[in-house]
Amino acid sequence: MSGPTLRIAVAHFSHETVTFLKNDTTLGDFIYPGSPARGEALLKFDPKSYMGGFVKMAREFDRVELVGIESPLWPRTGTGSGWITREAYETFVGRMIAEIRADQPFDGVYLCLHGAMAVRGVSRPEAELARRVREAVGPGVLIAATFDLHGNQNEEFLKHADLAFAVKYFPHYDGYLQGERAARTLVRAIRGDYKPAHATVKVPIISPTVVQWTGASPWMDLAQRALIWEASEPDVYVNVFFGFPFADVPDVGMTVQVLTNRNPELAAKISRDMSAAAWRQRKALLTSTKVHTIPEGVALAKQAVQNGETPVVLADHSDRSGYATWLLREIIAQDLSNTLIATIADAAATAKLRDQGAKAGDAFDMEVGGLADESAGEAVRIQGTILNAVEGHGQLWACIGFGRDNVLILSTYLVQIMEPLSLGALGLDIGAFQVMAIKSRVHFRRGFHDNGFAKTILLVEPTEPFLGTVRLDQLPYENVDLKQYYPYGNPAFPG
Ligand SMILES: [Zn+2]
Repeated sequence: MSGPTLRIAVAHFSHETVTFLKNDTTLGDFIYPGSPARGEALLKFDPKSYMGGFVKMAREFDRVELVGIESPLWPRTGTGSGWITREAYETFVGRMIAEIRADQPFDGVYLCLHGAMAVRGVSRPEAELARRVREAVGPGVLIAATFDLHGNQNEEFLKHADLAFAVKYFPHYDGYLQGERAARTLVRAIRGDYKPAHATVKVPIISPTVVQWTGASPWMDLAQRALIWEASEPDVYVNVFFGFPFADVPDVGMTVQVLTNRNPELAAKISRDMSAAAWRQRKALLTSTKVHTIPEGVALAKQAVQNGETPVVLADHSDRSGYATWLLREIIAQDLSNTLIATIADAAATAKLRDQGAKAGDAFDMEVGGLADESAGEAVRIQGTILNAVEGHGQLWACIGFGRDNVLILSTYLVQIMEPLSLGALGLDIGAFQVMAIKSRVHFRRGFHDNGFAKTILLVEPTEPFLGTVRLDQLPYENVDLKQYYPYGNPAFPG
């Protein structure tokens, strides 16, 4: 293909902020070997997800130049940290804008985002980033973005940007695909072949993430409905943001966003259809997933072991710090055996082990976890033997054998185990465990459920409603009026 070379600036800024956690996400949390990243390092940092898909597709076009703008990668705390400081946000956005201004002209900008970032003093951080990028590049330059479906969004982002593509599945299987679509549509839009018209509708439903699995109805039906619209109408893209309720920000709740090629009426029609379908299913959306209390769940796990329904996954969906010990304590109280607990986060304990040069075979006797805040519970004393202690992914991992063939994995930060094979890297024999107690809501289904690995799946949370609870009315919101959302109030269906 002939024609001038297209220059596209590529930037990344992603976080899913649990604002109820006490530890802010600071500038320092974003700075570690590899982050911030720029140039090819940024373009290659996540080859199997949004960025990888975007880069692969953009480079399938001739004469497209991608410019990796210096960007922070995910903070080293993962999702286990609270409000992003104003300093962190302003520092990185300031540098991005300066670099984009200095390196102009660009024909397009790609922003690789999550959508549930919460920044002190900035009520809509992704929209604010888009606004500043627009100010820098001017009105004629196309701006595209990809999002996680947990984004807390409204119409503000697309006032400043042109294109948005969110994943449809939870677990998020389709990040790479959405990156590809963003690249293709952005290049087409730059060349005048796609002129985005969009509609955004807030659907007043707020739901805890643990219920949002798209592997079963009615969440599956919502994803399917969006896919059917995309299959039957050329150039239509349907984003259904389920929303992230553990951020105290104004745009929580569900949002439907539809993009069409020069057809605002069609965008409005599809957004009405999608939001009406969600609204009709509102009761089932909230009630289709059973969540047990931890004592109940551990008793059910024991029963499942007796019935040979193993392996059993016990997923504490509610732990947002990684330090929570409720499940560990109950596993000890009910005397489970052959149980893996992955993980308890404890930065002080892992630092101590590192200082001691802990190694396999050493005796272990320490209080672990707890105390990060009330949701984490009390520290639990574990006496056993260190099976393995290794550095990886910027943290220390220690496997401790204790009790009747139980293994506890200690980590420095919150870890969400999504598939059992990742545990093999720690030298564990996965087949030896009858019960696996993990900290995950839905992402674990990728490697434990969708593939048929686990025979029994039990979702649990502490008896008391702590910060990751399904009982959202127990959370100390200041910027959200739950009465405006189903099931806590009786809002009117929009439109
Ligand atoms: Zn997500």
